[in-house]
Amino acid sequence: MFCRLTRVTHSMSKRVYLETMGCQMNKLDSELVLGQLCRLGYAPTDDFRRADLVLLNTCSVRQHAEDKVYSRLGEVARIKRERPEMVVGVIGCMAERDHQGIQRKAPHVDLLCGPGNLNQIGDLLAEVLDTRQRAIALEHDRSRRTPKDRRTLEHDSIESLDLSRTAPPDGNVLQAYVRVQRGCDKFCTYCVVPYTRGPERSRPPANIVDEVRKLADMGTREVTLLGQTVNSYLYAENGRTVRFADLLERVHEVGGIERIRFVTSYPGDFTDDILQAMRDLPKVCEYLSLPAQSGSNAVLRRMRRDYTAEQYLELVDKARRMVPGISLSSDFIVGFSGETEEDHQATLALIERIRYKNIFMFKYSNRPNTKADRVLPDDVPYRVKQRRHSELMALQHRLSIEHHRAMIGRRVEVLVEGPSKPALKARQAVEAGKVKTSRRADQLTGHTRGDEIVVFAGPDSLIGRFVTVEVTDASPLTLQGMLAGGPGVSPIR
Ligand code: SF4
Repeated sequence: MFCRLTRVTHSMSKRVYLETMGCQMNKLDSELVLGQLCRLGYAPTDDFRRADLVLLNTCSVRQHAEDKVYSRLGEVARIKRERPEMVVGVIGCMAERDHQGIQRKAPHVDLLCGPGNLNQIGDLLAEVLDTRQRAIALEHDRSRRTPKDRRTLEHDSIESLDLSRTAPPDGNVLQAYVRVQRGCDKFCTYCVVPYTRGPERSRPPANIVDEVRKLADMGTREVTLLGQTVNSYLYAENGRTVRFADLLERVHEVGGIERIRFVTSYPGDFTDDILQAMRDLPKVCEYLSLPAQSGSNAVLRRMRRDYTAEQYLELVDKARRMVPGISLSSDFIVGFSGETEEDHQATLALIERIRYKNIFMFKYSNRPNTKADRVLPDDVPYRVKQRRHSELMALQHRLSIEHHRAMIGRRVEVLVEGPSKPALKARQAVEAGKVKTSRRADQLTGHTRGDEIVVFAGPDSLIGRFVTVEVTDASPLTLQGMLAGGPGVSPIR
């Protein structure tokens, strides 16, 4: 081990291109992998053409995501033909799900690593460099016989990745993801996650709190607790069961952390104690990501989601009663097997009734080896999926504007994250001498507690601070505002 790591450490001037092609879990994995590689002497680059190591952190949730990986691998193959010493790796869910396909279709891939083995990335890389043979690490343990609250040992090695966490290479520590759970036990019929990320395993609460403390010491003010079904978190400790609401309380005690969010919640497992924690713990934000997937009970049954539309609505009503001002987001799949026009109308009605802040919507594509792929026909024509997708989009567009407009005139707390995108562009244009000044250059951006994006004018000295902004205008995606009390106002903390 020592020799291998030393060998890689000697490659001080090497460049790594790491592209994240998936969800928040992938983003966190990428950050941790990049941290490992930086410790081994690699420097990140944005240009895969100049990289010594190209890693694609992949997603298998939709066919489109996998197609993108093969397309990128095609581009990388052309570079590798000119520079055969370049190392190419596929990591993440697709490496786990389709490792045989990747080896067949992309023989230039040197390294394959599933999401449960990412702590081995340094060893795999050393193996490729030593032997010039392909190195592979995949998680084959799919045992679900162990009770959920005792499935801990098997992922101790993976946890070391989270625990050895350092500041991300881009230096942005203000907001951080913290994994509290891996895998999923639900087996929704359309989903590959239980196959790619394995059974649900919760991390020991003490490890999570340690990691949050470490982040707070580095300057993190907001943490987002991550799990595929985060609210199902369960850990046995000294004869007592630690549930997700207990975990929220423990994280809440960490000094320096001012905001806590969590994603993604599974509606069927959502218990009142979590809503009580959201109501009673001031650092827990009034925001809930609660994927409904469909508004039709027939579709939900075929998806094997173990709740009905009525139960989902009841949960949302309760959340709104217990956590006033809560803002909601959701995921929907259109065109799932057997979805009729009536089912589709039920989904539109549910969205209209709930009035989400935002939703993510996807056209169903069947994923190999899932239950839906085996037994449920992908029988909704593509043009129908497209039309239904557009209808959801149009509806949500209107609801997002209404949600944002209702906030005009209100004062909101914003964690200032940095210059807005237009401000960054404007600053570059000024630096390049293309324009003398730009009134957009002083635009800052940040999120409210309800996860709305706010843009307002202010000095860079506010970055990393909490300020009060009065909302003056709204678009479907953002709120515009001004610092409450005018320019020069003191930050609230
Ligand atoms: S709850 Fe269902 S959709 Fe979500 S990750 Fe688990 S299996 Fe996939």
